Amino acid sequence: MDISYIAGLIDGDGTITLIVRRDHTCAFGYYFIPKIGVAQQEREVLDAIKECLGMGQIIYIGKGSYEWVVYNWDECRKIVSLLEGKLVVKARQLELLKEFLFLKEPYQAWTKEKFIRALEIAEELARLKKKGNVRKTIERIRAIRRFVESINYTPEIRGKKISERLKGRKFSEEARRKMSEAAKRRMKFVIRDEGGKMIGYSKELYKVLGVRLGPDGRVTCPKCGYTWRYRGRRKTATCPKCSKKILLFRPEL
Ligand SMILES: [Zn+2]
Repeated sequence: MDISYIAGLIDGDGTITLIVRRDHTCAFGYYFIPKIGVAQQEREVLDAIKECLGMGQIIYIGKGSYEWVVYNWDECRKIVSLLEGKLVVKARQLELLKEFLFLKEPYQAWTKEKFIRALEIAEELARLKKKGNVRKTIERIRAIRRFVESINYTPEIRGKKISERLKGRKFSEEARRKMSEAAKRRMKFVIRDEGGKMIGYSKELYKVLGVRLGPDGRVTCPKCGYTWRYRGRRKTATCPKCSKKILLFRPEL
């Protein structure tokens, strides 16, 4: 087996894509997994690919089929350079994945611009896919992009007692909306105003901002995630599930 043969298999039955996964400890609450793979019924073919390239793993994907897959960032870079100029059907996919793999170094922090570009690449790769629920995947990626575009993110700043620094500050309705959205998603990042001045650290914001009370009285506990309808008139509510005291924010007051 040689690289031209492998290129043919990837071009025909292969996958070149970018997976977007949720993880609240990552930048913007998501991370990316590049994927190059070939699915086959004959495991021997896949063993030969793995042997030839010295990369990847073979997994059983059900219905008598196996898949040789590579998720590792550095290995994907190597395979992309081996495949360059050898694909016909998936030339565009290869070009897109290559752009993603060289947007930044694997352990370097994301900037907002690069993160949005990576989401655009993931969206186009999803659109080029023929199998699976493409529309649902695209809608999901677009929703993530809208959220990322709506926040101001600075990866280098970390603060522990920001809730104290925020006490007594006034916030616009817009800033409150963005921040409570971030707090709801339990993301770690710093939100800044238009002038670049720090507004707050998302994880502790609910302590100062209060948890927003929905128009029907619905409130979600920031600690356990439980949602219920609060009918009282106090400034704080107690979570029926975990007993946490929650500061409330009523937009109409
Ligand atoms: Zn709770």
